[in-house]
Amino acid sequence: MVAVKDIRDLDENALKEELSAMGQPAYRAGQIYKWLWQKGVRSFNEMSDLPAELREQLQQKFTFQPIEIALQQKSVDGTIKCAFKLWDDNYIEGVLIPTETRMTACVSSQVGCSLDCKFCATGYLKRSRNLQAYEIFDQVWLLDQLARENYGKGLNNIVYMGMGEPLLNFQQVMRSVELITSEKGLGMSAQRITISTAGIAKMIIKMADDGARFNLALSLHAANNAKRSAIMPINDSNNLEMLADAMSYWYQKTGIRPTLEYAVIDDLNDHDEEVAELTRFARKFPCKINLIEYNPISLADFKASGKTKLEHFAEALSANKLIVNVRRSRGRDIDAACGQLVNKSLLS
Ligand code: SF4
Repeated sequence: MVAVKDIRDLDENALKEELSAMGQPAYRAGQIYKWLWQKGVRSFNEMSDLPAELREQLQQKFTFQPIEIALQQKSVDGTIKCAFKLWDDNYIEGVLIPTETRMTACVSSQVGCSLDCKFCATGYLKRSRNLQAYEIFDQVWLLDQLARENYGKGLNNIVYMGMGEPLLNFQQVMRSVELITSEKGLGMSAQRITISTAGIAKMIIKMADDGARFNLALSLHAANNAKRSAIMPINDSNNLEMLADAMSYWYQKTGIRPTLEYAVIDDLNDHDEEVAELTRFARKFPCKINLIEYNPISLADFKASGKTKLEHFAEALSANKLIVNVRRSRGRDIDAACGQLVNKSLLS
């Protein structure tokens, strides 16, 4: 018999059904689940409390398709960026970002991206496929190991801000969150997870209705429809009015204040006029604003705003009584802009 699929594609109920059909007692599913999601094993031989015969049967029926680190780069600021190789020879990226208080993993949700944001290197890679939940889980697992090896402590923060639009791979992304947060998985607090979206209004509403406990970030970058559509084509079908309604609904339902991500780009979105536009948008619902020092990419002509302009922009928003944080660029020397490592090192 040919091994068909990664056993980790089965959720707990499907795993129970599978084992019952194999004539196994119910507790075997619990044992296997623990090996897969708490101990992170990638072969049936490691499941030492299973009878040899069962391990053999499982091996006939299922496979493992773990991701591997193909390439690693470490920045002078300690940021570690990985290109991960998938079982089908596709590549994705994940980044480990250490700070004094946090150990953050930034993970990908798709191979490439279909949304074509003009300032993003991944937008120039076409979307090949969605990631499975176990491929997202594997990124977290491997970045956690790297954190322990390099910094002596594990992850305490996960952001879905790597390659891809998480809400266009909804089911697998939500399953990965469940595996990371469940007591039967890694047991991390959902409050330590942030899903970042370019803005798919109906999925934001769905997450709120589904009782989300994680954080939500909206990649905004412009608070005027014409300007936003010019750099983020998704704005044509999910405009600012729809997004403001969805974000208000999210806050009402979850009580979680979302974050607006705004990369400050020289002479594009960093004038007083844009302060006024962003202020109007941000006053529509309770939120925080992260101003991001833009990381230029070789594929487009955008430049980061100078330090003085960035500070002026932040001060003007604070003066308008908005909550503003400035996020300094990390890993610039290793092309921290998402999609760069895959573009430059593996595809060229
Ligand atoms: S910013 Fe996000 S949604 Fe836009 S192209 Fe890049 S990966 Fe895709």
